[in-house]
Amino acid sequence: MPKISTLIDADKIAARVREMGAQITKDYVGMEIVLVPVLKGSFVFAADLAREIDLPVAIDFLGLRSYGDGTKSSGIVQITSDLTKPIEGKHVIVIEDIVDTGLTMQYLFENLETRHPASVKLASLLHKPARAKVDIEIDYLGFTIEDVFVIGYGLDFAERYRNMPFIGVLEEQ
Ligand code: 5GP
Repeated sequence: MPKISTLIDADKIAARVREMGAQITKDYVGMEIVLVPVLKGSFVFAADLAREIDLPVAIDFLGLRSYGDGTKSSGIVQITSDLTKPIEGKHVIVIEDIVDTGLTMQYLFENLETRHPASVKLASLLHKPARAKVDIEIDYLGFTIEDVFVIGYGLDFAERYRNMPFIGVLEEQ
C-alpha cells in the first residue's frame, strides 16, 4: 500500500470552506448566482461550499479534460460535458479544485466570456503558484500549496483517492 501523508486535514478544510461561503454570501447579497463546479475534481469541494452559501443558487456542472502526460497540463482543453443552460446575464462562480499552470482556467474563462454572463468569478480550493504559466485571478482561494501532487477531497491519482476526506500527498513508493 502506498503511504499517504496529510497536507490539510478535514477540520482545517471545513473551517476554510465555511469562511469562503460566508465571504461569497456577503459579496453577492441580494443576488442570484450560478455555481459552476468543474468536474470531476471539484465535486466534494463544491458540495461543501454550496452548503455554506446562504443565497439562492443554481448549480450547473461543466466537464473539462485537459490533455497532458498524466500529471502535467498542456493547455489543450476539451469540454467533455457542457452547461445545460445559458449563462447570459447571470452571475457565475466557477468552482475548481486546483489551479496549477492556470491554463485550464484561462481556456474556460475565455470560453465563458463569449456567453455574456453578467460576471464570472473563480473559487478554487487550492493554488500551486510555483507552476503558474499564466496569471489567473482567484477571487476565493482556500489554500496556497507547494509544488507537490495532491490527492483526496475530490482530487485523484488515476481515478483513486477522490473519496479521502482530507488532502494528502502520495509518498515515494
Ligand atoms: P492547470 O491547467 O491549472 O495546470 O491544471 C488544473 C488541473 O490539473 C486541475 O483541475 C487538476 O485536475 C489537475 N491537477 C493539477 N495539479 C494537481 C494535483 O496536485 N493533484 C491532482 N490530483 N490533480 C492536479
